Amino acid sequence: MPEPIGEFSDRVVVVTGASQGIGAATALAFAKAGATVVAGCPTHDAESHRQAVANWREEAGLPPERVAPVTADVSQTDDVTEFYDTVQKHFGHVDVLVNNAGINRDHTLAKMTDEEWRAVIAVNLDGTFFNCRGVLPLITDGGRIINISSMVAQTGNFGVANYAASKAGILGLTKSLALELAPRRITVNAVCPGFIDTDMTRSIPDEVLQKYLERIPLGRPGTPEDVAATVLFLASPGAGYLTGQSLGVNGGLYTGD
Ligand code: NAD
Repeated sequence: MPEPIGEFSDRVVVVTGASQGIGAATALAFAKAGATVVAGCPTHDAESHRQAVANWREEAGLPPERVAPVTADVSQTDDVTEFYDTVQKHFGHVDVLVNNAGINRDHTLAKMTDEEWRAVIAVNLDGTFFNCRGVLPLITDGGRIINISSMVAQTGNFGVANYAASKAGILGLTKSLALELAPRRITVNAVCPGFIDTDMTRSIPDEVLQKYLERIPLGRPGTPEDVAATVLFLASPGAGYLTGQSLGVNGGLYTGD
């Protein structure tokens, strides 16, 4: 993994969906750079997610006080309210929020059920909204909000209308909130990963995967650490004049926006 950008000692960083994949890599990178990390875990299989956080923390040789697993289903407004009550009680404030928790339920539109549509919008878009609103009383002036969107918000893709709509919604939310929070010097940006090797993409059939990979100009899938490095950049002091933007981390697969 590349060296982390910046120094985050004494910073309190919240990362949702931090037990695995991009969220775990991001939370770990912040913790290695000195931050105290609140590692969001879902309420389903809560214990195994908390254990997963403890595992990556221990592997990195970080003490328990630097990484606190806190449970909330991001799609439930009451859960998220309780989550920030806990954060306030234990840490007092937040410097950086990374909205990373997300799911997919892929189907072509003709076959997509109401449940598949609603579940994806609820976790990806409602969850981002609930967390942004929940963190507002706690986030310091000059703080950072980084929302994990997706390249498919910019391009669309076959069979992912619910997911693409939720991720495009995040881009609109990001731009509006950037304007609302600019007077407090809080920046709000989105990251749009392309194809990243995590559990979410491991279910893609091999032949589809190969075709996808052949189209990536940089010639490899992205890693969770590639995304984490961009998130840390956006949270660093050097990115203080960058707000309302979306940064593609996609190996050149999409060069617009
Ligand atoms: P992942 O499935 O490994 O991780 C998703 C995380 O979200 C998990 O930690 C999970 O516990 C958490 N989560 C799911 N539902 C939740 C809920 N209701 N409440 C709280 N937490 C919940 O997948 P990933 O690839 O690491 O995805 C991380 C983010 O990156 C997602 O928002 C995803 O949409 C986005 N993304 C991924 C890719 C990719 O290629 N992997 C590309 C673009 C965007």
